[in-house]
Amino acid sequence: MISAACFIIYSTRDAGGLVVITFGGEVIQEMPLNMDGSFLAGSKESDYNLIVVEDGKAYVAEANCANQICKNSKSISKSGEVITCIPHRLVVTVVSPEKEVDAVAY
Ligand SMILES: [Zn+2]
Repeated sequence: MISAACFIIYSTRDAGGLVVITFGGEVIQEMPLNMDGSFLAGSKESDYNLIVVEDGKAYVAEANCANQICKNSKSISKSGEVITCIPHRLVVTVVSPEKEVDAVAY
């Protein structure tokens, strides 16, 4: 039990960062990589991308863009990795936690 818990903490910290979702040039959502979740950018009535965070990785699970490049991109987990959806002006990127933790500590 204890060693398993330690392993989980270690592995998420290792992968650990923040997923920053930028849509049309503005940051619309930030998600910690160590917490599973999903975020719908845009709306299903028009243009949308569904970003999922799972097992310390982020990926585009659904999108209705023409080229589907974002959906076919590999999941990202390391600082500096990016998934872009050019038709929707969507950028999903991972930033390293150090800077961000200080910035949001207040
Ligand atoms: Zn796309």
